[in-house]
Amino acid sequence: MADPRVAAEQAQTRAAAEPLLRVRDLKKYFPLRQGFWAALRGQGDGLAIRAVDGVSFDLHPGESLGLAGESGCGKTTTGKLVLKLMEPTEGEILFDGRSLRDLSGADLKLFRRRAQLMFQNPYEALNPRFTIYRSILEPLLIHGIGDAQEREERVFQALERVHLSPPGNFLGKYPHQLSGGQLQRVVLARALVLEPIFLVADEPVSMLDVSVRAGILNLMREMRRELNLAVIYISHDLSLIQYMCERTAIMYLGRIVELGPTERVIGEPLHPYTQALVSAVPVPDPHHRASALLIKESVPTPIHLPPGCRFQDRCPRAMPKCREPVPLVRWEDGRLVECHLYAS
Ligand code: SF4
Repeated sequence: MADPRVAAEQAQTRAAAEPLLRVRDLKKYFPLRQGFWAALRGQGDGLAIRAVDGVSFDLHPGESLGLAGESGCGKTTTGKLVLKLMEPTEGEILFDGRSLRDLSGADLKLFRRRAQLMFQNPYEALNPRFTIYRSILEPLLIHGIGDAQEREERVFQALERVHLSPPGNFLGKYPHQLSGGQLQRVVLARALVLEPIFLVADEPVSMLDVSVRAGILNLMREMRRELNLAVIYISHDLSLIQYMCERTAIMYLGRIVELGPTERVIGEPLHPYTQALVSAVPVPDPHHRASALLIKESVPTPIHLPPGCRFQDRCPRAMPKCREPVPLVRWEDGRLVECHLYAS
């Protein structure tokens, strides 16, 4: 583990620098398709799934940010939007000072080189008909990088960097000949061969055996430090987020409800939803007495949302005021929380 004082100094230096990624009031709505009879009755017009609904955050060079929350909270859609894999309904995404909306042609190609995605499922991320060599070579060919000899050297270096060595043992193999852990290292090598400055890792180890997860996570931490990569980790697993991320954003039904340094958000959560998530994390101590914060299990649909706080139907601390618009409060330690409990 890094020295916490050094980590705090690094975080301060970063905070003073210009963000690499600036996301403001980002929205992504998916219009609902109406059936024939609903169309006849005039139902369903204007209805939409509000997958992401007003998300704002910054990410600095070399920083790690976790996006956490239950399935359907909008974290994966947010990851796709900041990689320009889909277009937002509203809002602004600036990458290195430029709006993603304006990128096209050579600028878009350069963005594709600098911003990479690490897939959740390494078994589906690689072409089964390509050797490992060809899989890692492909992005270099697409982006026209180097001559044949330079590309070959880069493929070798990429495999060594992810500790698949000697590379000669892997280059001629096909994906089905490697284990899940080795495949995920290949996926990481393919993402890093273009020397990106920004990576989105969507549930990077959820498909792997528990026994190999720690190795992949340690490798990713090492890569981030070595390459000064800015990384967004998307996961429902708070233990992973706690281990990998300097800052954490908790998402609920398309909104960030708490955002701040990971040790504060997970160590002393403010928002009742974060408290419930944290209380559900298993602790490997037989003497530990869990103080679970119980919430109702049903998540409202992101189509018919209640006025005011979206968590009100599940929140054990809900009050009449929670039906009113919820303020975003900057708490005394600097973190942001969207909850009436903390408004003055
Ligand atoms: Fe609970 Fe009200 Fe806070 Fe929402 S605003 S999390 S309902 S206390």
